[in-house]
Amino acid sequence: MIVMGNYRCLKCGKVVQVDLRYEKVRCPFCGNKVLVKVRPPVIKRLKAR
Ligand SMILES: [Zn+2]
Repeated sequence: MIVMGNYRCLKCGKVVQVDLRYEKVRCPFCGNKVLVKVRPPVIKRLKAR
């Protein structure tokens, strides 16, 4: 199973997809190790009551 997570590099601002199976997260563009997790827009299925 592949679990991908979106991370945004704080240095170059690019969003990279990281395989969450690996603990080491690094920006492939600039090599920065400081990445913040990007939350995809959550689609909530709320039923109006
Ligand atoms: Zn970067």
